[in-house]
Amino acid sequence: MSCPVCSKPTAQDWRPFCSHRCADLDLGKWMTGAYVLPANDETEEDSLPEPPITKPH
Ligand SMILES: [Zn+2]
Repeated sequence: MSCPVCSKPTAQDWRPFCSHRCADLDLGKWMTGAYVLPANDETEEDSLPEPPITKPH
């Protein structure tokens, strides 16, 4: 079997890939293709209006 990313011989540690690099590459490809990270969530959360806390002085 060969690496699906670069077609080099597969490494035992990184099956079915040849290296950590190729495993990462393929994972990144899979993630961006099938699983879109909700990048807006954090900024949205940040801009959420906080409930005004009015303390009597
Ligand atoms: Zn490879």
